[in-house]
Amino acid sequence: MINMALEKVKMPLQDGASRSKNFDEVALGYTKEMAMEEAMRCLNCANRPCVSGCPVKVNIPDFIACVAQGDFAKAYAVIHESSSLPAVCGRVCPQETQCEQNCIRGRKGEPVAIGRLERFVADWYREHGSKQTPQISDNGHKVAVVGSGPD
Ligand code: SF4
Repeated sequence: MINMALEKVKMPLQDGASRSKNFDEVALGYTKEMAMEEAMRCLNCANRPCVSGCPVKVNIPDFIACVAQGDFAKAYAVIHESSSLPAVCGRVCPQETQCEQNCIRGRKGEPVAIGRLERFVADWYREHGSKQTPQISDNGHKVAVVGSGPD
């Protein structure tokens, strides 16, 4: 069922008294209930305007549909087809000038909280996802890495 609320589900924050005494993140992230409620705001638009605003073309409607169904592992798999850094992108990407700027829900009310949902999926996967190291087979090619940053 579509959630027609005009505003995004609010992100819980540390209160001022606490955050003045620590260096933890101020934004605490969605719970799974909050994420599913927000994901239900997505209309799964056929022409996918949000995807065209994403520099790496994450399949946004499909990963959000998985979140709405509570299938967070599949949501992570969908994101991972295009991006290996969803925990970072979900926090620091300027979604307001990229994917969320193009979101149809933003024409009347706030856009779908795509960044918050991406962050939620990445954090959920870090807690619950596979801990197996990917198996990579030798293909016979050699590479050299030149330069490795400061130091
Ligand atoms: S534009 Fe907004 S409502 Fe449409 S599919 Fe993308 S996130 Fe969902």
